[in-house]
Amino acid sequence: MKFHSTRDASKVAYDSAVVIKQGLAADGGLFVPDSIPTLTAEEIESLRGADYATRAAVILGKYLTDYTHEELLEDCRAAYADTSFVGGAAPLVAIDDTVNSLELWHGPTAAFKDMALQIMPRLLSRALVKTNEKRTALILVATSGDTGKAALEGYRDIPGVQMLVFYPVDGVSRVQKLQMATQLGENVDVCAIHGNFDDAQNGVKRIFADSDAAAKLNEQGYFLSSANSINWGRLAPQIAYYVSAWLDLLNAGKCKPGETFNVCVPTGNFGNIFAAYLAKRMGVPIGRLICASNKNNILTDFLATGTYDRNRAFYTTTSPSMDILISSNLERLLYFTAGSDATAAYMKSLGETGAYTVSTEVKAAIDADFCGYFADEEKTADVIRRTWEDRHYLCDTHTAVGLACAEQYIAETGDRRPMVLASTASPYKFAADVLRALGGEVPADELDALDALTAMTGVDIPYPLCGLAQRKVRFTEVCNPADMLNVAYNKLK
Ligand SMILES: *Cc1c(COP(=O)(O)O)cnc(C)c1O
Repeated sequence: MKFHSTRDASKVAYDSAVVIKQGLAADGGLFVPDSIPTLTAEEIESLRGADYATRAAVILGKYLTDYTHEELLEDCRAAYADTSFVGGAAPLVAIDDTVNSLELWHGPTAAFKDMALQIMPRLLSRALVKTNEKRTALILVATSGDTGKAALEGYRDIPGVQMLVFYPVDGVSRVQKLQMATQLGENVDVCAIHGNFDDAQNGVKRIFADSDAAAKLNEQGYFLSSANSINWGRLAPQIAYYVSAWLDLLNAGKCKPGETFNVCVPTGNFGNIFAAYLAKRMGVPIGRLICASNKNNILTDFLATGTYDRNRAFYTTTSPSMDILISSNLERLLYFTAGSDATAAYMKSLGETGAYTVSTEVKAAIDADFCGYFADEEKTADVIRRTWEDRHYLCDTHTAVGLACAEQYIAETGDRRPMVLASTASPYKFAADVLRALGGEVPADELDALDALTAMTGVDIPYPLCGLAQRKVRFTEVCNPADMLNVAYNKLK
């Protein structure tokens, strides 16, 4: 399988190892496979009895054809080991007769980013060997919290890479700060900056654009790389859990061969739901793809009207990982429905005016698979409370947005096919907001909210969030945004 840029009509071809190493195409587009592979009936049958790592290795092998099955299996076994994903990598848990929660948060940071960030660094490490790269990849990340921690866990002690994470010193929660400051691993570093998230992100962008820095790093045996969510190495592993969910529905007798099911995904950057779309195109019998948004409902509007317009208010919500105005991975869907010329034109318009409108044909093609709903803060809190009281199932705020949208879809359409709801974070990741939704009193110290929530519900705190206050703090450095490059130089080995 070869890959090319969403914006390149001539389809210059790249191997997956190059694509994973490079991240973004040179023309600013995203990498997409030349074709969408399919699953054979024999493969599906053989995967029904397989564990998650084997399922994931087979799905990845359809796209990463320059990796051997043995390599992929070894990496998947290491990434999705049951010591790391306690309780299974992607278990499917029934909420009611229709909706099943696909729990993607059993990994080392208790959020769904682990599904990709546990495997992608291993794929990158192999990509360096496959492309004969002698230098070390220096991964720079600016984070507002969750991605930084998931990336640190994923890259820790991976050969051939070193990582440095910057976060705004007063811009992350106490839990997030503790999670990063106590991070283990010989090849990772964390530095706070005086400033906000934009200062951190602009600082990282400045370093990436600095050709003198690139030359100096090169002399020292390093090159810059990113752990960005638009990297194909992060997207491909996400396809596997939708295939896995279908196999689990079949094994549980909830879906018979020849029947279809629906998928609902709480969406931010459009990566997770795009992976579900690819699973559908590969032959997984998915009916409707329901795109769930919070009050930042730019995607709901896009799916309803065909116009994407980022010229609008931005809201801070209790589901912060969905507080996004530019859903980068949507570009990949545009490519598969409109082709590269139209995609390049839409993206140009988005850059210049902040908006674009797709053609009637493209809108019809998207409508054939997708529909969009959104839930405001009040509805989200109400779903958390109701689902706990009626079903004894505890949702985090993002999953609750998805569930509210799934319920709205079912009520509106009467479509009662089995629904797979992507559950993207442990309720303990957002303990204070979950506690508040349940009517509990929220303690002053955020760390105490975890104990209060487990006392109230009896649901266990996941291992990554246990005993945080007792762990040894390793990273205390704080710098000014202007000094970020020097901090990076000081970390070179
Ligand atoms: C990243 C994230 C999302 C959004 O996923 P996308 O792939 O960006 O659409 C939703 N929920 C949680 C908890 C996340 O961390």
